[in-house]
Amino acid sequence: MPLEVADKAGACFGVERALAMVERTIGQASGPVQTFGPLIHNPEVVASLAARGVRAVEELPEDAGVTLVIRSHGVVPEVLDEARARGLDVVDATCPYVKQAQRAARDHLLAGRQVVVLGEAGHPEVEGILASAPGARAVMEPDDLEGLEPGVPVGLVSQTTQTPERFERIERALRAQGHEVAATHTICAATRQRQQAAVDLATRVDEMVVIGGRNSANTTRLAELCAEHCPTHHVERAEELDPRWFKAGMNIGVSAGASTPKAQIDAVCSTICELLGEGGEGPWQSPS
Ligand code: SF4
Repeated sequence: MPLEVADKAGACFGVERALAMVERTIGQASGPVQTFGPLIHNPEVVASLAARGVRAVEELPEDAGVTLVIRSHGVVPEVLDEARARGLDVVDATCPYVKQAQRAARDHLLAGRQVVVLGEAGHPEVEGILASAPGARAVMEPDDLEGLEPGVPVGLVSQTTQTPERFERIERALRAQGHEVAATHTICAATRQRQQAAVDLATRVDEMVVIGGRNSANTTRLAELCAEHCPTHHVERAEELDPRWFKAGMNIGVSAGASTPKAQIDAVCSTICELLGEGGEGPWQSPS
């Protein structure tokens, strides 16, 4: 087939776990089930949950009969405390790797270090990590390190979806500024594996299609990495595929962010095969 799916692509352990927890909760809860923010950064999945009555809410519900699911990105600890204080039934679907990053930030703070988090300020996961170590700051570039306390050791952790290269760049910049650095690598393996597999594929094909929410940080990063090697299209759904992108004889690679379920990957692959004139049945290599 002129279509190849990266051997690591699509929904990661944390997303599969969160989806399974919601399904279990829907089956067991006697009252309404809500998620605190969108469960995952995938508009199609969020819309399908909403169609089944699972609303994503931005404020904590007042009604103690609600079962509230915390998404895989986690929340600031105060939200969990407040939800429990209101008597809500809380199902915490925070990914264990995100919890690990929160714990690492807190441990650095308790060890007397100033905490630096490599990650995008405002991203819910980063906000949760920052809140675990009050006073911590989020950085993306060495320039963001301006104003750290001289002579105070730095504890460095990362948003789980950042690249190891960027993490090492920040660590080097901190050392170059004379800081003693304790770095905890909290980039999760799922992200690294998807990035490596996508780049490997992007170097071998004519074009890449990357599937996932435009609001998904890890999908956007996958698309950026692939675009360094070949023309790359980032789509959320099969309907967004433009027939002009595909010509007979082309080799197309497909990757997908960590919040993209397999069914969405299959739908996109099927449409690409049709557009390439190969029929829509595949086979294509299934993602793992
Ligand atoms: S990308 Fe990693 S940290 Fe994020 S939800 Fe998936 S497994 Fe967890």
